[in-house]
Amino acid sequence: MTESAAVEPNAVSLDAVSLDTKLANVVGGRTTTALTKAFGIVTVGDLLSHYPRRYARRGELSAISDLPLDENVTIIAEIRTVEERPMKARKGSIVEVKISDGRGILSLTYFNQSWRARQLAPGMRGMFAGKVSDYRGHLQLTHPTYRLFGAGEDDEPDMPTDADEAKLWIEQPIAIYPATNTITSWQITKTVEVVLDAIRRVPDPIPAALRAERGLLPHATALELIHRPETDSDWRRARDTLRFTEALVLQTALVQQRNSARAQKATPRVPVPGGFLERFDAALPFTLTSDQLVVGDEIARDIAGDAPMNRLVQGEVGSGKTVVALRAMLAVADSGGQAAFLAPTEVLAGQHLRSIARALGPDLAVQLMPTLLTGQLPVAERRKAMLRAVSGQSRIVIGTHALLGDTVTFFDLGLVVVDEQHRFGVDQREALRQKGAVPPHVLVLTATPIPRTIAMTVFGDLDVSTITMLPEGRQGIETFVVPLGDKPAWATRVWERLAEELALGRQAFVVCPAIAPRQLEEGEVLDPEARAPASVEETLAELRAKPIFASARIEPLHGRMTSEQKDQAMRAFAAGEIDVLVATTVIEVGVDVPNASAMVVMDADRFGVSQLHQLRGRVGRGGVPGLCLLVTTAEAESASRERVEAVAATLDGFELAQVDLELRREGDVLGSSQSGGRSSLRLLRVVTDGDLIGEARGHAQALIEWDPELDSVPALRDAVRRRLDDSERASLTKG
Ligand code: ADP
Ligand code: MG
Repeated sequence: MTESAAVEPNAVSLDAVSLDTKLANVVGGRTTTALTKAFGIVTVGDLLSHYPRRYARRGELSAISDLPLDENVTIIAEIRTVEERPMKARKGSIVEVKISDGRGILSLTYFNQSWRARQLAPGMRGMFAGKVSDYRGHLQLTHPTYRLFGAGEDDEPDMPTDADEAKLWIEQPIAIYPATNTITSWQITKTVEVVLDAIRRVPDPIPAALRAERGLLPHATALELIHRPETDSDWRRARDTLRFTEALVLQTALVQQRNSARAQKATPRVPVPGGFLERFDAALPFTLTSDQLVVGDEIARDIAGDAPMNRLVQGEVGSGKTVVALRAMLAVADSGGQAAFLAPTEVLAGQHLRSIARALGPDLAVQLMPTLLTGQLPVAERRKAMLRAVSGQSRIVIGTHALLGDTVTFFDLGLVVVDEQHRFGVDQREALRQKGAVPPHVLVLTATPIPRTIAMTVFGDLDVSTITMLPEGRQGIETFVVPLGDKPAWATRVWERLAEELALGRQAFVVCPAIAPRQLEEGEVLDPEARAPASVEETLAELRAKPIFASARIEPLHGRMTSEQKDQAMRAFAAGEIDVLVATTVIEVGVDVPNASAMVVMDADRFGVSQLHQLRGRVGRGGVPGLCLLVTTAEAESASRERVEAVAATLDGFELAQVDLELRREGDVLGSSQSGGRSSLRLLRVVTDGDLIGEARGHAQALIEWDPELDSVPALRDAVRRRLDDSERASLTKG
């Protein structure tokens, strides 16, 4: 099959070609199959939104005196001599043409193409393009293409006919597409050309007035120019238009989603006088911060309404989000309902149960019966927990994703609290929400601050509350980078410093990237450059062997331990029976031990910015100042070292989230771990297009308020539908 045959237009259906037409009906099955496999492209619209990755040029005009070897060049020159001679070793002839641009002379050679000698003659001027090679010390072009000025004879029909046109031809950008080894950029170009020539109706998804106001191109023009630009400014204008279009479509989808979630009916939850919430507040051993009060009011207002709450509460580790969530659960309990509290790990679920039971105090705990329900509970206990959930006896059910199991039912589920959102997919949140006969209110807590544009893009359907202040009496955390590459001697100092903390009666964490030393595969030789990351097992052994820790109780905590063992270790640490916990990132989220003052992070450069910030939040939670030592062998000025330095430089989680965002690739930002897989932004960049996204959201809101069904802009309605039809449909945030 030749490439051109693969993209032969299919004449039958051309009349009706639109963005929704199946690509196979336009360009044939084999090309479509390759495109579907490589990029999930099914329709004409899919193909046309497979935008060029970049634009190349045919080549700058080159001077013969200064030719780069092995590169494609284009030269304007005059023919000096044309010579045909037989080949020496074989049958056949060589045509050798010498051209000059006034600054040098270059040979062109053609093998077995005698007709070249008749077409080319001394004195003719033209443009010659080809790859520069070296033949016995002389530069030459073998089989170059050319266009002779004023001659009307050429190889390439598109080639220009005079020097002015030549300049344009050379400057014309060539679209380079994301390609694979089964489908080349070149094939995509051909396919796109067939489609662009065939498509008839491309309506505008942007309302005319808005398009005029922002100086945007009609949609059809934008598609044409992003794929077939004649100048750089063509594709730039096209890209601006399509980027805004993308933002508007996405925000319209989110605003609609949000509105339809709000149009559902939920049960209003209002605390009763003298009820659980009042009793809890009265017994609270501290005063709530003003941020906690404000956010608490926002939540109270939401859940008192008859539309389901969809609220995200973000706040630094230790800012007191859990208390705020607990108060919402008590309001729900007051109105006879239950709350489900979803934690990302068994350890955390266990810890939440204990701290919630403690916070409630014995009387409330007996009445509300907080219950743990996780996958690792023994069958009998699990059954008991499920019974308490379905009977309504337990007003607060705490668990892991086991809470999402089909077998778990609630008597009256009024509120779902999801702790640490970033570990939870939107699908899981949705599954839990389905558990209520009436949609429950949903509260999402996150300690990973979310920059505004991401909040708008990924959680565009949630209301956002922020707790910025920490409770009073917090002593803060001091963070230092320990660069062992430059200062190996500091290693000793790290452990001395830790011993000093222990001597004050405090506790510490030592965090390692790995659990065990990496096992070499059979026959594998260790690359001496690639140092294996510090492991819990090795570090534990090393610390236990140190005389300064002779009296310290040092224990491990990591993901290969059973949940019982992990629980046991956490409990012992919380009770002060362990001095140093050598752990992996299992301790990252939510662990709350006020007496833990110090943390040493081994090979800190192996962790991400947000992760380090989260880890650090485990210390300095009580009245004692926190100390965090980030140990690294990353070289100064390296990107990994900069990440570590950035964490040491500030305690501001929002600033770090921004740093993180800038350091990470776009796909990771919206990647499945955070967004549930909706990472298909094409031209939009959440890092740089914040303002644009914000504006698009404003327009989307105004538009939908005035025309909820988008009857006035059917093309936008179609674009939103197409977006939802995409594979990510299932994971588009449902709140
Ligand atoms: P987060 O969930 O945001 O990390 P928590 O709700 O777990 O924070 O609170 C951390 C610790 O601070 C807990 O021990 C909690 O009892 C305590 N705390 C919460 N709010 C206050 C407050 N306003 N004043 C003093 N201590 C508080
Ligand atoms: Mg918490």
